[in-house]
Amino acid sequence: KLGSCKVVLGGAIAQGLLAEVKANLQQLGRSPKLHAYLANSDPAARSYADWTARTCKENGFEFHLHEVDREDLEDVLRHANTDESIDGMIVYYPVFDSKRDLTLQWTVSMFKDVEGLSPQLISNMYQNIRFLDPPFNTQKSILPCTPLAIVKILEYLQIYNTFLDYGKRLFGRRITVINRSEVVGRPLAALLANDGAEVYSVDVTGVQLFSRGSGLKRQKHEVREMDGWGLEQCLPVSDVVVSGVPGETYKVPTHLIKEGSVCINFSTEKNFNPDVKERASIYVPSIGKVTTIILLRNLVRLVQNQPHANGL
Ligand code: NAD
Repeated sequence: KLGSCKVVLGGAIAQGLLAEVKANLQQLGRSPKLHAYLANSDPAARSYADWTARTCKENGFEFHLHEVDREDLEDVLRHANTDESIDGMIVYYPVFDSKRDLTLQWTVSMFKDVEGLSPQLISNMYQNIRFLDPPFNTQKSILPCTPLAIVKILEYLQIYNTFLDYGKRLFGRRITVINRSEVVGRPLAALLANDGAEVYSVDVTGVQLFSRGSGLKRQKHEVREMDGWGLEQCLPVSDVVVSGVPGETYKVPTHLIKEGSVCINFSTEKNFNPDVKERASIYVPSIGKVTTIILLRNLVRLVQNQPHANGL
């Protein structure tokens, strides 16, 4: 017996987003140029690059892969920042697999950063600043691809309540995010809380609450340690569970998941047991295809943000 759970595949959600991206692409009237920089020998990075190349080609984007010695990468990126034939840049991390990778993230111009990893873009996200050009608010800030993919999935599944005002559409929702990495889990918890949710952010060390407080009285989220809390406290009250724990041994305990909740896995491994379908109302087993479309969406946005695109 598998209950009445709906399994929603990332590919189906990606199709809807792709239609929106293509409509915007047509308005641009030219093919945006994405340049990718591979300086490691990680087979996962290469297959992501191959997948991105295919998706770009199929949908009217130019994609150029540069294989670079990691000691040369910083110079290569600096040149690319001022090369007018390049619209967007992506670097496959880890490169040095140490704090030195931050120097590379800081080198990529925020006006060409499809991944949203530039310091100013990251700061805007945490501060809930949504535009690059206040008070005109014509240029939207760029958000990191995987957290934004998860936001878009929650919009598709109508967890975002469009009856409410923009920026408050998750008011009343409780969401558990299992993963607090700097690239996915922590930015995701911040984005969801900035949109009004009460977010339980879980990692190996414990639980933190991300929230704008009672009545959303704060303009951006605050973070509070939840001493003594674990999944036993978070899962039974959560409307949505997002999990991204690496490794094949980790499983979210199904018996703690609230009946009728929405469960989303972004780990490459299956974080949910098959019996999740006996409790969840909606289960999204993987999101990779959505992330790739978000990358293209960010690229279109970078081109739209270029001064001449606004007639300046
Ligand atoms: P990471 O190793 O940087 O972070 C893992 C996080 O999980 C940490 O916060 C850690 O504390 C937490 N964690 C580990 N074990 C836990 C446990 N037992 N209980 C609770 N929390 C635990 O990894 P990452 O870069 O965030 O990637 C995580 C996964 O997501 C990987 O499988 C990666 O391949 C995948 N990923 C997918 C996409 C996509 O678009 N689909 C994008 C990026 C990463």
